[in-house]
Amino acid sequence: MIEIDPWGVADIKDYARLFTEFGISPFKELLNRIEEPHLYMRRGIIVGHRGYEEVLRAMNERSKFAVMSGFMPSGRIHLGGKMVMDEIIWHQRMGGDAFACIADMESHSVRGTSWKECKEIGLNEYILSLVALGFDVEKGHIYFQSENKNLRDLAFELGREVNFSEISAIYGFSGDVNISHMISVVMQNADILQPQLLEYGGPKPAVIPVGVDQDPHIRLTRDIASRMRMFRVEKRLDKSKKPHDIRIPRIGISGRSARLDKPYISIRAKQEKRRFTQLDREALEEIARRIKCPAKKYYEMHVDVFGIEASEIDRNMREIEEIVRAVEMEYGGYGFFFPAATYHRFMQGLTGGKMSSSIPESYIALTEPPEEAARKVKRAKTGGRVTVEEQKKHGGLPEQCTVYDLLMSHLIEEDDHVKEIFEECKNGKRMCNACKSQAAELMFSFIKHHQEERERAKEVLKGHEIYKRWFR
Ligand code: SF4
Repeated sequence: MIEIDPWGVADIKDYARLFTEFGISPFKELLNRIEEPHLYMRRGIIVGHRGYEEVLRAMNERSKFAVMSGFMPSGRIHLGGKMVMDEIIWHQRMGGDAFACIADMESHSVRGTSWKECKEIGLNEYILSLVALGFDVEKGHIYFQSENKNLRDLAFELGREVNFSEISAIYGFSGDVNISHMISVVMQNADILQPQLLEYGGPKPAVIPVGVDQDPHIRLTRDIASRMRMFRVEKRLDKSKKPHDIRIPRIGISGRSARLDKPYISIRAKQEKRRFTQLDREALEEIARRIKCPAKKYYEMHVDVFGIEASEIDRNMREIEEIVRAVEMEYGGYGFFFPAATYHRFMQGLTGGKMSSSIPESYIALTEPPEEAARKVKRAKTGGRVTVEEQKKHGGLPEQCTVYDLLMSHLIEEDDHVKEIFEECKNGKRMCNACKSQAAELMFSFIKHHQEERERAKEVLKGHEIYKRWFR
């Protein structure tokens, strides 16, 4: 059994099992529907997704969608964090409303980082690199959790839908976990749902690019988003061959007899019967009125819509979902879409194993001297053979090589060039020393260029409220 632990050291070797054990879908199945896929998508670095189809549809139809992810300010920004930033920026360029959260409340409660450090690390490590990599501060939103009142209000509301036992079961919390740590979980749920608040244009598909270890947060937030809805819309198939009867007709809606072997759509109250209020009843009646299909039936806590051709069912589902969402909003609900996620695989640590912030040799920080970054590449673990002769004879193992991982994930844009390196390595035509020197040079140039961009980002950020408040 694989365990995915967002705060632990996860080492997931068999990504295929994520699909069967956790219901994560393979990302490659969506590739041919994406206009200009990011290299993480093309190269299988984004291994999976949950519910990304809705975001993709919005992107392709040029309708509104959002992207958000967060960064805990407790250490240096390294290439792993850059992957999340690249994905946020790509979605922003594709038309998404982009949110970048500095999770200072999480860092303060979980790691004990002081507020002052949170702000300094948040700005100097994360925000500067985010802007240097291409985040558009004029169009997007960057915020510290602790300074965002909307977020805190939303977290309080969401907290009503989740209890201690549930959070403990998901995250393995025991009795000695501090309350602030638990609150930080709900803050993360609020971070994920915040882009759908009215202040930011209301409900919309939203994607959260994360490492695969963050899936428990995503699943919990999708559950909470569902619990916050007043109604759910379901596609059903009735094969009973018995006529439907109207059990509790309240508003006199009935239709011609339905074809019972066809699919139908059911709009059902989320509340238990004893909590189904007059307001819920009025909202359901309003939904029934707005659905134009003549073959619909109204029951005490649900409405069924019949007479829809199978080929039209998905389009009708979407239209009805929009009606339900609009009515929910009018009656004080949130109308949340379930947040989607893309999951990228972990980068290998340069020393072998996982990258760890406690082992500086295992990662490259975007803020370290370029010479130091290049030196780390030259000392990195490769997939080379013990001797040059063996390498020539058997070829290397690029799939186990941290240098190849760097080249493929961060240093080479052209797919053909990456393929060429892979083939040359496999065929024994490429030797590790020369290969590492090439990668070290590319890393030197990348880090140097990035740090120049960070200087430019400081100028861009000088007009930003976060910078003015904390670093004037
Ligand atoms: S030749 Fe390059 S890609 Fe192949 S194992 Fe050596 S360092 Fe890695």
